[in-house]
Amino acid sequence: MTIDKISLGQFEIFGLRDGFFYLDGGAMFGVVPKTLWEKKFPADERNRIKLALNSILIKRGTALILVETGIGSDLDPKFFDYYSVEKIPGLVPSLQKLGYQVDDIDFVINTHLHFDHCGGNTCKNEKGEDVPTFPKAKYIIQKGEWEYALHPTERDEPSYLTSNFLPVERYGLLQLVDGNREISEGVEVIIVPGHTSRHQCLKVSSEGKTLFFLGDLVPTSAHIGLSYIMSYDLFPQETLQNKKKFYEQAIDEDWILAFNHDPEHFFGKVKKVKNKYTFEPLL
Ligand SMILES: [Zn+2]
Repeated sequence: MTIDKISLGQFEIFGLRDGFFYLDGGAMFGVVPKTLWEKKFPADERNRIKLALNSILIKRGTALILVETGIGSDLDPKFFDYYSVEKIPGLVPSLQKLGYQVDDIDFVINTHLHFDHCGGNTCKNEKGEDVPTFPKAKYIIQKGEWEYALHPTERDEPSYLTSNFLPVERYGLLQLVDGNREISEGVEVIIVPGHTSRHQCLKVSSEGKTLFFLGDLVPTSAHIGLSYIMSYDLFPQETLQNKKKFYEQAIDEDWILAFNHDPEHFFGKVKKVKNKYTFEPLL
């Protein structure tokens, strides 16, 4: 059974799911040959693999922090069809199932601004305008990522949809940060370049325990192996160095890892067995 809730010292952390979507398996595993990755992720007839859109909700007392907002729901039907998006259960419904409403969220954190990480930042109002989904939240985004998202290159332009993030600024909810920053006690964003130059991960620490939200540094548990790096990454060598750096720390300090795109595991750990890093599910 998938573990979707953990206690971490003073925090409770819940796995939420906006749904699933499909991406090309080759692009998801970079230089790793299909004969290796398809054992972990079988491809469909279009060579695509099924990925999840995972968020986490961090609760301490009455304070609520939402990390990632999935793909959203106000997308062009053609786009929805292209990625075969399945909104099961949907981010807001999964939040409501826990007894919370969109007004309850204090902070929204995006690891970066690709459409599958910040799609639910905004939604359409009755007039059909894009407005922030979480009207009382501060949205924490890296300054460099924000600037890049407004001026992407030809190669990654399709990954950025301004309707996901410009309304956040328009409504005064944007809080740009530059580098590592403590957002609230025990919750810190950490710059981890590789996927994009200002991609950030999230570290939650309490009473000697740590959870690390990986974002697109390691999108699924099948990407734990060092060479399993997405073709989408702008700086794959930096991804590699950061995987090694954070795995060593994670092993030394017994961190729980949280996965952004894993359809089976919200959480898990990394272990080193015979000099190779492997995934270990939480029991
Ligand atoms: Zn991404």
